Amino acid sequence: MISDKMEKLVAGSSLIRAMFEEGKILAERDGIDNVYDFSLGNPNVEPPETVKNAIIEILSEEAPNRVHGYMNNSGFEDVREAIANYTNQKYQTHVSAKHIVMTVGAAGGLNVILKTLLNPGEEVVTFAPYFTEYGHYVNNYDGNLIVVPPNTDTFQPDIDVLRQVITPKTKAVIINSPNNPTGVIYSSETITQLANVLNEKQKEYNTTIYLISDEPYRELVYDDIEVPYLLNYYTNTFVGYSYSKSLSLPGERIGYIVVHPEMVHLESTLGGLNVANRILGFVNAPSLFQRVIAKTLGSEVDVSLYKKNRDLLYEHLTKIGFTCLEPQGAFYLFVKTPIEDDRQFCVDAKEYNLLLVPGSAFGCPGYVRIAYCISYQRVENSLPAFTKLWQRYE
Ligand code: PLP
Repeated sequence: MISDKMEKLVAGSSLIRAMFEEGKILAERDGIDNVYDFSLGNPNVEPPETVKNAIIEILSEEAPNRVHGYMNNSGFEDVREAIANYTNQKYQTHVSAKHIVMTVGAAGGLNVILKTLLNPGEEVVTFAPYFTEYGHYVNNYDGNLIVVPPNTDTFQPDIDVLRQVITPKTKAVIINSPNNPTGVIYSSETITQLANVLNEKQKEYNTTIYLISDEPYRELVYDDIEVPYLLNYYTNTFVGYSYSKSLSLPGERIGYIVVHPEMVHLESTLGGLNVANRILGFVNAPSLFQRVIAKTLGSEVDVSLYKKNRDLLYEHLTKIGFTCLEPQGAFYLFVKTPIEDDRQFCVDAKEYNLLLVPGSAFGCPGYVRIAYCISYQRVENSLPAFTKLWQRYE
């Protein structure tokens, strides 16, 4: 018999994954070219050539035990040093290898951080709409996720409400920018206000409140908009980075955490992250891909391909009547549904072979997420289906 906790999790198993499975059934029925699957954030843009070259070079030049062996649970020292130097150069920070912990993607990183920080019953605040897995990750360590309702005009975090929800039990705040599912980038102004509130509340309650910046989409930015680097705004910050999207390597499970060098209780925190990586069963991040990352720092996927998709889809959807903000980054559009019930809207959309994810899955009903990380051709072919879907409600 599985645990009561797991039984509930299985019963409520991910909406997004369920949609993915339904897509496969529709594809069998109508042919893959006639199904417009916008449900999953699985990058379609190829990894840059540098990744393949690095793998070949490493495998042909390095001694196998330097590539495939165990290492420090926080990762290879030379890889961490290369990442630290790269970070300092790019963001004018002052981190060294010891402030970098290699992780099993952003998901692994978030779990390692939360395992290190949370006592049962402590609170973690996030802003709707948010990546649903945060709730599960916080629950893994018996914490409580507190969700600040969305500001649907801008989808920037509502700082006034943040001030009201922070209590002496608040251990951390998680933010995600560029954001899944809105594509919004949190502005420097928002981040400054957020940092001010956290500093104010730390003083008021004499507690430590950590900021966790979940950044798998940092490199996926359009129109030269700047994504503020959180270490430059708030001392008790963890940045969780991942190569799942920036290099299109989600299956390889590689990322890292950056810890602010002036964080309170720095040494015990670094020790905690190291132990958490081990005892959660990750042991360490995948070794070959740690080496690949060190060789490909600065490489990114061709973001212009996502931008082309964004432009086409945004222009079409807003022209026919849908309302949404133009995404500044990531590869999602978050669109207001013409009926209140976003789940019903997704059921209706399926009649036109459009697979979308209800906003309810992100704590924001009345919207749908469209993941446009699919081929341009497929986006183009889907446009008449969106038009028919809109006309259904006119
Ligand atoms: N955080 C957000 C906001 C995401 O959208 C995702 C994946 O889609 C993750 C974390 C997990 O990323 P990773 O594949 O690096 O674990």
